[in-house]
Amino acid sequence: MRFADFNLPSYIMLGLEKQGIYEPTEIQELTIPLIREGRDVIGKSQTGSGKTYAFAIPLIENIDVDDRSTQVLIVCPTRELAGQVTDEIRKLTSMRESCKVVPIFGGSDMERQIKALKSGARIVVGTPGRIIDHLNRRTLKLKNVRTVVLDEADEMLNMGFKEDVENILKASNPYRQTVMFSATMPRAILEITSLYMTDSVLVETAETDKNASIDQYYLNVGLRDKTPALIDLIKDNNTSIAIVFCNTRKMVESLTTQLVEAGIDARGLHGEMRQSERRKVMASIKSGDTRVLVATDVAARGIDIHGVDVVYNYDIPQKTEYYTHRIGRTARAGRTGVAYTLINTKYQLDQLQAIHRDTDNVIGEYVCKYSVKREASLRATRGGGSHTRPNERGGDKHSSVRRDKSPHKPTRMDRYKQEGRYKSQPTYMQYDYEDRPSRRGARRDDVREDRKGSSYNGSDTFRRSTKRYGEYSPKTRAQSKGKSSSRDKIKTTSKPTNKKAKPTSYHIPTKSGGKRRK
Ligand code: AMP
Repeated sequence: MRFADFNLPSYIMLGLEKQGIYEPTEIQELTIPLIREGRDVIGKSQTGSGKTYAFAIPLIENIDVDDRSTQVLIVCPTRELAGQVTDEIRKLTSMRESCKVVPIFGGSDMERQIKALKSGARIVVGTPGRIIDHLNRRTLKLKNVRTVVLDEADEMLNMGFKEDVENILKASNPYRQTVMFSATMPRAILEITSLYMTDSVLVETAETDKNASIDQYYLNVGLRDKTPALIDLIKDNNTSIAIVFCNTRKMVESLTTQLVEAGIDARGLHGEMRQSERRKVMASIKSGDTRVLVATDVAARGIDIHGVDVVYNYDIPQKTEYYTHRIGRTARAGRTGVAYTLINTKYQLDQLQAIHRDTDNVIGEYVCKYSVKREASLRATRGGGSHTRPNERGGDKHSSVRRDKSPHKPTRMDRYKQEGRYKSQPTYMQYDYEDRPSRRGARRDDVREDRKGSSYNGSDTFRRSTKRYGEYSPKTRAQSKGKSSSRDKIKTTSKPTNKKAKPTSYHIPTKSGGKRRK
């Protein structure tokens, strides 16, 4: 299929052709007709799949330039993403006079934003906090908004914007269309869809599994060797552009300094930098002046940088979702890429193992001169190694992630079993469940109630304490993969979901002649 088959207006076709884009990606092919019809759409898709144009093309086409009010609101989790979405849309609207796109996010001048909004912003792209700010000041009105787009919705909720997102939806025209893009479908997302979307369609594409085109490796090194190992990797790979992810702002700063000292052209990006600085760093990366971007998740979320060949996880991400999003910075628009994750403790190896299970991605070991003998390092971190070195394939840098367990060393539990003192239910579990108030402050009965329908057991530490390495409850796994419980199950691809019945029915004709129900 080609974009020409969509009968798009000439200014959009020209905007696409200027970028050498002629064929829609899978997500675009599926969602453009649905959004055109006015349906509420949930796109399960990651950055790099072409999702911005998947929603932007039908929405731009539907803008009424004679109406000066805000007709489309796009909510993004970060300033960078909001800036990027604005730029992408402007590439398609530059030839359509009066189709004004205004970005509103923190860190930029408020007065200028107010002026831009007053001058007839047909499309507004912003971050939740600043949108709420403008709503409170009444400088942004969403009474006539036709479509609200929640971009990277899972990340917005992860960042604690759930309430803001709900308030934005409540402040918007109740007869609007709602479009949501999310790489994962956690419970909180499903709640939003059932409360604020009508007759929605879930669109899931094979591209969601684009991690298949990323070669993934891990390096098991000592803490002190992490930076030298990374420096060697960057120099060996000699990539055009690389992103190094750290978990904290402090680490971004100190690692950037160390890389620069080692002669690597690196710049840091984190959420606490001034907006003007962040913009400069992004511009320098995008223009190719800087080769290595060292960033936190928040800063690098959703950013689209052409030609990122390698992603390094200097710190292992705390959630599988973050891993997926991080490595998704590479292998964009049909290209391939490589991702390396550095680990330096047994606990981090466990975390990586969980990521491996959740994603089904093959993560091979990359053996370098800094690689540690795992037996020794495990003994140091946990007082007893439980794994042997996986594959000693001398000379071959990349070996399989599969590893065998070492001969079982008797534990205290084994001794208890031998002595007949072993209880099938761990004592700590009984104590926590019966006598101690849960960490959530709920009473015992509430905790029991909680446990009926979910695998949640009241406390994360507790969950960890009752699981041995290697165990994984199927329900937890299903949830972490974004599958819903039977209660909020959404029907599969391209089928209307069973929505809560709404009292009245309205028909809003769209430009393309489609109708939507409310
Ligand atoms: P996104 O998933 O929206 O972050 O897009 C990732 C990149 O793919 C952007 O740089 C787009 O310009 C580019 N892109 C979007 N649609 C297409 C397409 N149909 N073919 C090739 N590249 C595309």
